[in-house]
Amino acid sequence: MPYDPVERHIAIEKLVTRPSPEGQERKYYRTRAARWYGGIVTADCVGCGLLCRFCWVSDFVANRPADAGSFYTPRRIAEGLISLARKCKLDLLRISGGEPALGKQHLLAVLENLRGKGCRFILETNGIPIAYDEDYAENLAKYDFIHVRVSLKGCNEEEFAMLTGAKPEGFKMQLEALRKLVEAGVSCHPSVMASFSTRKSLQFLRKQLDQISPKLADELEIEELILYPHVVRKLQKHGLKYHTGYAPENVPPEQI
Ligand code: SF4
Repeated sequence: MPYDPVERHIAIEKLVTRPSPEGQERKYYRTRAARWYGGIVTADCVGCGLLCRFCWVSDFVANRPADAGSFYTPRRIAEGLISLARKCKLDLLRISGGEPALGKQHLLAVLENLRGKGCRFILETNGIPIAYDEDYAENLAKYDFIHVRVSLKGCNEEEFAMLTGAKPEGFKMQLEALRKLVEAGVSCHPSVMASFSTRKSLQFLRKQLDQISPKLADELEIEELILYPHVVRKLQKHGLKYHTGYAPENVPPEQI
């Protein structure tokens, strides 16, 4: 049975966040420097409301959010990111590993702690929490050092349902998140997992994006599969056939 992506985000959020005297805590499982964007310091959070069949997150972290990782305050996460960035001489930060927009109060407090530290922050999100929360986009607009990358799961409702196992309407919510971000004046662009898409479905997506803002259609980033062994196993389990994909050691520079 397809699941409701909003209900699942709300349910997972309850498992991976908790209140504390120092603000809302969120579960994380590691902090690292990663090769993407030419070098970016990354805190990997636990928990996402989608179940993408190509997700690179390990099965343990993805399927057992109540058991994986530990709770951290916003201040500790911000300090950890800044400290590793200084050590690695990088100025680009992000939260990845799951859905960073879960735990809105936590994320906003992390951003508050990063303000004025001379870093840029990339928010990589599936967009669904930004679509269902009335004022998330306006809240994000207060931070001029962030850029939001909304990662679309396919080019249309049918592909979204095939790739995530969720109800197809979730795709419209991803587009709705982009619309809200554009309206709020937040720097953003869409990316799309296109390894399963046809040229025709990509054209359809560009038209949809163009209706929100021509800039979004121009800046559409094409994402392709990275064939980690556990990703290949998941794809086989779901009988998903892909058109393009790269071995982890052969990802082309333009994808990094
Ligand atoms: S939205 Fe991202 S983190 Fe969530 S399941 Fe899909 S690929 Fe994994």
